[in-house]
Amino acid sequence: MLETICDILVDAYKRNWITSRDGNVSIRHHDRDHFYITPSGVRKQTLQPDQFKKVGISRGNHVTPIPIDLPYTDISANLKPSGELPLHFGLQKEMGQHKDEVRVVVHVHPTYCIAAMHAGIDLSTISDAFPELNRYTKVAPNVGDVPPISQELADRCHENLQLDSNGNIAYDIVGIKGHGVVAIDTSPWRAYEHIERLEHICKIVLASGNYGK
Ligand SMILES: [Zn+2]
Repeated sequence: MLETICDILVDAYKRNWITSRDGNVSIRHHDRDHFYITPSGVRKQTLQPDQFKKVGISRGNHVTPIPIDLPYTDISANLKPSGELPLHFGLQKEMGQHKDEVRVVVHVHPTYCIAAMHAGIDLSTISDAFPELNRYTKVAPNVGDVPPISQELADRCHENLQLDSNGNIAYDIVGIKGHGVVAIDTSPWRAYEHIERLEHICKIVLASGNYGK
């Protein structure tokens, strides 16, 4: 599935949902105490599976688990995990409703989702009017202005997704104002589809001009 993640990042680049070095994705299989995350500062159009970072979920003597860098490939040894590691780690350390499956967390910067938030729209409010969105995708309330690659961004996203201590989440996607979205599901393409669906509806809402005025 690491190859599939590379594919979706190429697709996201083609759609202008990320510039070269943006976007990050993690994936965890339920029966393993580690996950893979995209490396920091690497061009996503040419990302290869052997560049991913392997992150262990250490439960040792710690009250709460902490991430540890595990050896993977020679190439990845010289790379650092995505700066959004706190966001991903919080969602991967316990898998909640995905505990017998795979959990994939995708973060990108889709144009119309960000434009809609910039225009003052709370993404959680638009799904009522669009059955094709709310049938398949539960949208959390927006996260406000938070610095990128920060613990604060991670904490606010976790809070708005209603992440609990077992890793359960109440939503499939959350928007971060002035920044992007985070989507979660059991495969890279399933997570990606939440973004695609929300982006499509945001484009329609903005085209209609019928919002918050
Ligand atoms: Zn970002």
